[in-house]
Amino acid sequence: MSIGHNYTRELRQLDDRHNIHPFCDGKQLIERGSTIISRGEGCYVWDSDGNRLLDGMAGLWCVNVGYGRNELADVAAKQMRELPFYNMFFQSTTPPQISLAARLAEVTPDGLDHFFFANSGSEANDSIIRMVLHFWKVEGQPTKRHFIGRNLGYHGSTMAAVSIGGMKPMQDMHAAGHEILPGFHHIGEPHWYRHGGDQSPEDFAKSAAAELEDKIIELGAENVAGFIGEPIQGAGGVIEPPAGYWKEIERICRKHDVLMIVDEVICGFGRLGEWFGAQYYGVQPDVMTMAKGLSSGYLPISAVAFNSRINEALRSGGVLSHGYTYSGHPVACAVAEANIDIIENEGLVERTREETGPYFNEVIGQIAADHPLVGEKRGAGLLAGLQLMQDRGSKTFFEAGSTAAIQCRETALENGLIMRAVGTAMVLCPPLTITRGEIDELAEKTVMALDATAKVHG
Ligand code: PLP
Repeated sequence: MSIGHNYTRELRQLDDRHNIHPFCDGKQLIERGSTIISRGEGCYVWDSDGNRLLDGMAGLWCVNVGYGRNELADVAAKQMRELPFYNMFFQSTTPPQISLAARLAEVTPDGLDHFFFANSGSEANDSIIRMVLHFWKVEGQPTKRHFIGRNLGYHGSTMAAVSIGGMKPMQDMHAAGHEILPGFHHIGEPHWYRHGGDQSPEDFAKSAAAELEDKIIELGAENVAGFIGEPIQGAGGVIEPPAGYWKEIERICRKHDVLMIVDEVICGFGRLGEWFGAQYYGVQPDVMTMAKGLSSGYLPISAVAFNSRINEALRSGGVLSHGYTYSGHPVACAVAEANIDIIENEGLVERTREETGPYFNEVIGQIAADHPLVGEKRGAGLLAGLQLMQDRGSKTFFEAGSTAAIQCRETALENGLIMRAVGTAMVLCPPLTITRGEIDELAEKTVMALDATAKVHG
């Protein structure tokens, strides 16, 4: 493998000449040059200059079992030799696809036993919109066509996923206004530290959830198809709802016969110390989105779980005119099933719940308590957000355009830690295989980055 500055320079020139990067400011990229990652092992990746980096983001919230799993490469190679592709359209499928669906039924919450396959979280959520609209039509309630999401919710990058998500820059990309598809509505994000005012977390949980009921009443329950939310909002900055919020959301959805759709793309497959975030919060979704940790990012695959009520309606509703060439791709399915086996056999969910998750929360919580730049630590399991503050004493947030978080991220990278900046917060989501020693390293490098940032922005 080539390594070194000349190699990096050549790659950057080609990158600059030919690539359009997702979620990237093209001008800034030219100034900085891309970070080129060329190898991974365990919780570490190496860049094209040979620098070893602790991956505090598990790739993009996805490499739950860590890098360098030869067993997954072997499963992929074996399946590619046997049958690299066949489709699921019409009345066809393949053994790995059937086997994965049956395996998923074992690990997903009871009652969610029917799966539709796609290739990404965005496609899965887009599929949900189409399939849920079809469901309500078959159920004889065709006016139920509106969806409610949340500010700072992230559900992907297709037009429907952007519309149900609550990321304003994505929605504003095409025009100066709020440009989303019709039929999508939003309520506030349940962020107590920012929006709670004088309310206790418990009271705020109730009032934040009550926004859903108000919105349903405003639209008319007979017009509302579903509510969608991430158990903990990831890309929005790891926004952890206060206790009681999700139970209240569930009660409101049931009362108005609105489907509760839980997007588990980040929280699923052990991230919070349960197989799924819905289990962490003790609620029972009607529909659940899975991607990322489903294959630990080794191959692109996503799935939507539906309950029996929806499944029966879809089955009796004539042709389901929806699907992707690569729905249930046999190689991706074989790898995803082997990935689930690793999570189970190595007890990664229990380990996150009982050992690494509590230790990670203790260590990151201590940083938040001690560091003058940090106002709040959020998250659970192996998912954390640190809110940077201009002045934590007076609870003054940095302005939205502040570069504090970007500086923190860049300094961390220079010191060998990958973390992510979301607005004015830092977020962490390491592989579930992370050890105590690696958590210590992550914490030490986080403090170094915060210290350097505080010198300029503190
Ligand atoms: N849903 C959530 C909660 C996500 O975090 C993401 C991606 O980060 C998506 C959906 C979209 O997934 P993808 O990028 O695979 O389309």
